[in-house]
Amino acid sequence: MSLLVQKYGGTSVGNPERIRNVARRVIETQRAGHGVVTVVSAMSGVTDGLIQLAHEVSPSPSEREMDVLLATGEQTTIALLAMAIDALGARAVSLTGAQAGIVTDGVHTRAKIANITPKQILHHLDDGAVVIVAGFQGQTMAGQVTTLGRGGSDLTAIAIAAAIGADLCQIFTDVDGVYTCDPRLVPNARRLDELSYEEMLEMASLGSKVMQSRSVEFAKKFGVKFEVRSSFNENPGTMIIDETPSMENVVIRGISVEKSQAKVTITGVPDRPGAAAQVFSALSAAHVVIDMIVQNVSVHGTTDISFTLNRADLPAAEATLRPVVDAVGAAALNSREGIAKLSVVGIGMRSHSGVAARLFECLGRGGINIQMISTSEIKIAVIIDEASVQAAAKLTHASFGLEHGPYTV
Ligand code: ASP
Ligand code: MG
Repeated sequence: MSLLVQKYGGTSVGNPERIRNVARRVIETQRAGHGVVTVVSAMSGVTDGLIQLAHEVSPSPSEREMDVLLATGEQTTIALLAMAIDALGARAVSLTGAQAGIVTDGVHTRAKIANITPKQILHHLDDGAVVIVAGFQGQTMAGQVTTLGRGGSDLTAIAIAAAIGADLCQIFTDVDGVYTCDPRLVPNARRLDELSYEEMLEMASLGSKVMQSRSVEFAKKFGVKFEVRSSFNENPGTMIIDETPSMENVVIRGISVEKSQAKVTITGVPDRPGAAAQVFSALSAAHVVIDMIVQNVSVHGTTDISFTLNRADLPAAEATLRPVVDAVGAAALNSREGIAKLSVVGIGMRSHSGVAARLFECLGRGGINIQMISTSEIKIAVIIDEASVQAAAKLTHASFGLEHGPYTV
């Protein structure tokens, strides 16, 4: 017998029929001889609907009351799922985050888990019941209701799996797993059997649509093995595990694409200590999140600094930087939308060369211009025009033969 944590997201519990489907799956797992803790999200659309309601009664609802409100979404689902399981003749007990022993800090709407005392979970498991825990919520030491940030049910599931020493955490969602590239861009993309935590984190555009990245970091830290799979079929999913020695041969695991990016360039920045600090401190104070940063070699005592960011943050970045450009004595501020980031990711990149050459060559042959380049140990990313992103993804996917699975040597 193994101990499993199964998490079902909002679409998987989106209506009564789907809740009954989850109830059947959970009961089947238990009858196969496993102990099951089920973590559920609010039914799809419910959290958004509650946020909208809050703004209809108040222009700036307090974060404490937001948490009290939003926690009701998951509380509805745990009760409904317990009733559905009961109606099918099995036994289930629902627990709120607080009852499940999830203690958080006091930062309302984006609380961090401080510790978990899974006394009630373990008690009901021992008793032979399916334990159903509300995702996304916890309680402070002082008994205040908190929530863990959007998508936080993933974190609840991973953290409970760590706390009770589960054999596996299964994240059930509406896709079959993580793919070599977004199948909407590259139709012959393949589902991956496995990938490492680090690759999952780097494949942001593939991974983060499937899972909250904070929960992946948590899983990595505590070595929680998890699987991403669909709740709508019986297909096997993608396992996310610790790096293994054989992964060193996987040079490219997949391609991650992020659209809707923008680029800002400040030209003629005086080449002196503190200039870049002035620019990026201002952006940080305005809570603008920056992605790639490139500074040119200085010519005649000035340099150009470029960075990329989400297009949605561009107006805030421009407004913040206009006075800063004058203050540091730079020449001009230019910005551009309609760009995208394409990244190739793989553990084996650490120890194998030639990936950059192959990537740039295939984009060059396709007539796709590279505007910026950045690298990490296991990733090479390029900025290109958004209009050519699908062509670029298809070319890169084919160039590394990803239609057959990861590119290995
Ligand atoms: N219901 C919350 C949200 O929509 C948490 C979750 O679904 O994971 O963000
Ligand atoms: Mg989710």
